[in-house]
Amino acid sequence: MKNVLITGASRGIGAACALLFGKAGYRVFVNYNKSEKQAYEVCEKIKSAGGEAYAVQADVTDLTAVRRAVSLCKYHGGGLDVLVNNAGIDFYGTFEETTPEIWDSVIKTNLTGVYNAVYAALPELKETRGKIINVSSVWGVFGGSCEAAYSASKAGVIGLTKALSKELGLSGVTVNCVAPGYIDTEMNARFDEKTVADIIDRTPLSRTGTPEDVAEAVLWLASDKAPFFTGTVLNVDGGFM
Ligand code: NAD
Repeated sequence: MKNVLITGASRGIGAACALLFGKAGYRVFVNYNKSEKQAYEVCEKIKSAGGEAYAVQADVTDLTAVRRAVSLCKYHGGGLDVLVNNAGIDFYGTFEETTPEIWDSVIKTNLTGVYNAVYAALPELKETRGKIINVSSVWGVFGGSCEAAYSASKAGVIGLTKALSKELGLSGVTVNCVAPGYIDTEMNARFDEKTVADIIDRTPLSRTGTPEDVAEAVLWLASDKAPFFTGTVLNVDGGFM
C-alpha cells in the first residue's frame, strides 16, 4: 500500500484529494492544523469506504511540527510515496492593505510551508522514488489584482517546483504542480454572485471548478500513468488562462 501525506486536508481541495487517494487504495495521512474534528471526519469517510487513514496535526509553517508529521507517516506506513502540498491561505486586498504581517503570513504558509514539507519529507521520498505535487494557482502564473502576496507566494511555488524537478530528476523523485482556477471552496466564500458570474463568463467551460476536478489531476500526477512528467504546471481552470 502506498502512502500519501496531504497538507491542509481537513476541507476543500485537500479533503477531496484525501478521499480520492483513499478510494485509489493509498494509505492517507490527513494533515490539519486546527481543524481536528474535520480531519477525523475525512479519515472516517476513508475508513468507512474500506481505506486506511490517519489524521496528523502540524502547522506547515513550523518545520519541527512537519517533521513530526512525517515521522508519523513512517511509523504507521513505513515510508512516504507521495507528498501533496495543498495547505494555503489567501488575502484579498490592495497592496497598501497588505501589511508586513499579512505579507509574512501568506508567504510563510503558502511558500515556506511547501519548503518545510519537502525539506522534512525528502529523505523518505528519495527512498521510494516518490512524487511531490504542489498546489499553486492561476494567480501564480499571471498574477491577480488585489492578491499580490497570494500571487507572489503561488508564483514562488511554481519556481520551487521547476527548480526541484531539475535537482531531483536523477534521484527519481518527480515534482509537479497544479494551477487551479476558481474552485468552489470556503476560500472563495467571500466573492459575491456577480464576481462569480463574471469568472464563469471568462471560463470557456462555463462553470467554476470543484475540489474533485483538482483532486483528479493531483491523483493522476501521482500515479504510474504520469511517469514522464516533472516540472510541469498543470492548469485545472476550465480554460480560464
Ligand atoms: P480552504 O481554505 O478550504 O483549504 C485550505 C486548507 O489549508 C484548510 O484546510 C486550512 O486549514 C489549511 N491550512 C491553512 N493554513 C495551514 C497551516 N499553517 N498548516 C496546515 N494547514 C493549513 O481552501 P482550498 O480552496 O481548498 O485551498 C487549497 C489549496 O488550493 C490552497 O493552497 C489554495 O491556495 C489553492 N487554490 C485554491 C483555489 C480556489 O479557487 N479555491 C484556486 C487555486 C489554488
